Amino acid sequence: MPSISENIALLEKGLKQETKLIAVTKTKPVEALLEAYSAGSKRFGENKVQEMVSKQEVLPKDIEWHMIGHLQTNKVKYIATFVTLVHSVDSIKLLKEINKEAIKNNRTIDCLLQMYIAREETKFGLSEEEAIEILNSSELGSLENIKIVGLMGMASNTDNNEIIRSEFQGLKGLFESFKKYESAHIEMKELSMGMSGDYEIAMEEGSTLIRVGSAIFGSR
Ligand SMILES: *Cc1c(COP(=O)(O)O)cnc(C)c1O
Repeated sequence: MPSISENIALLEKGLKQETKLIAVTKTKPVEALLEAYSAGSKRFGENKVQEMVSKQEVLPKDIEWHMIGHLQTNKVKYIATFVTLVHSVDSIKLLKEINKEAIKNNRTIDCLLQMYIAREETKFGLSEEEAIEILNSSELGSLENIKIVGLMGMASNTDNNEIIRSEFQGLKGLFESFKKYESAHIEMKELSMGMSGDYEIAMEEGSTLIRVGSAIFGSR
């Protein structure tokens, strides 16, 4: 079986120029993260606040931490000191809380709106209408310490590549059309799409951030 560093080298080699790799480290022990770090990986994705915090505390400080899982408002404070990008924003309420904690820490926190693009039922993600409501919201202008820098989405869990591709194309279409809402707090520049099973399709369809776990660290 290829090692973590071999997997990362292979992935990095295949990246498009505009695409960055986020190593999804959820459930993996600190030793595995250190091996990835030694292989040059400096962007880690976690989906649970507590796990992200405990790993962040013991690992090198030049690592970027990406929150890719559902984030509850009452837990924002634990990651607001260090988180690089929150991929999973799905309400104005959460944006307000991130802004509040960002102010306390005297920083600006970048966020992505998580869009619901899959055909299957999942709990999380915004519809186009809901996202527009947030982008158009008069409250957004007063949230000085957050910035919406793009969109995140997950395709259906299927081996039908045509379905996956059309879902990614749909997300890319929204990403482009939302550029008309750009303002001091909105800039559509990051498109977080693609996981171990579908990152190649995602890159072909314009992804700028791929979130890859099991193809690096093995199955969970
Ligand atoms: C777990 C997870 C990933 C990585 O999944 P793999 O199939 O292991 O690459 C990507 N994005 C999100 C939101 C996840 O929760």
